[in-house]
Amino acid sequence: MEVRYYGVRGSIAVSGSRIGGNTACVEVTSQGHRLIFDAGTGIRALGESMMREATPHKVAMFFSHLHWDHVQGFPFFTPAYLPTSELTLYGPGANGAQGLQSELAAQMQPPHFPVPLSIMRSRMDFLSALHGKTVEVGPFKVTPIDVPHPQGCLAYRVEADGHSFVYATDVELRMEDIAPDVARMLEGADVLCLDAQYTPEEYDGRRGIPKKGWGHSTMMDAAGVAKAVGARRLCLFHHDPAHSDEVLEDMAEQARSIFPVCEPAREGQRLLLGRAA
Ligand SMILES: [Zn+2]
Ligand SMILES: [Zn+2]
Repeated sequence: MEVRYYGVRGSIAVSGSRIGGNTACVEVTSQGHRLIFDAGTGIRALGESMMREATPHKVAMFFSHLHWDHVQGFPFFTPAYLPTSELTLYGPGANGAQGLQSELAAQMQPPHFPVPLSIMRSRMDFLSALHGKTVEVGPFKVTPIDVPHPQGCLAYRVEADGHSFVYATDVELRMEDIAPDVARMLEGADVLCLDAQYTPEEYDGRRGIPKKGWGHSTMMDAAGVAKAVGARRLCLFHHDPAHSDEVLEDMAEQARSIFPVCEPAREGQRLLLGRAA
């Protein structure tokens, strides 16, 4: 299984960052099968990379939730315009299929965008991703789980080839108080990609207005959670747009005091699970 980060920023894209300015998009591949998690601005580069491959493109796309930074890149995902492409799109929750379809259509309606969703000629099948209900795609088993975030969010545990990757963005976790079903979901992950938007000072209001209840974790809580669930490796994710590369490196350094195998998720980074990364 190979994981590649195309967008690691949260909230809104930024420029001039070596670590990564594009909003959330993660690709996971194995044995010729491809999963995509979220369609933030990072999906544009992923689409360009796919356009250099042989067609047809077959992709299963899983959305954590429909906040803007997780859907706004979709109109720039070039493979979706090809009639030969087949996209299976999983929207979060019981109304996920209709909710995702209408959200992707709405953001391409006038006056927001020049062409409507219906111009995309690919085959698109919309399905709902439900808490605890595992979806099988080729060698992958993908399990969604509800996590705490305003208006809700799904984390995804991905298993294939005897390895596991957990994508848990936009989640407010405290290391001293992890819900048992969330802990089970994260348990023993080879790679845990976890929301770490804030520093503890930002979270509790010692710097700026308090961010408690905004649906994001601190890097120290992310590290504490990674340790508690016995993860192998932690990637801090959903970087705050106000944080420079120096701040992000410093946050990872502080988090390593709790969980040593920890770094900021970096745009373009490839992680090979099961071989030396
Ligand atoms: Zn977000
Ligand atoms: Zn969100």
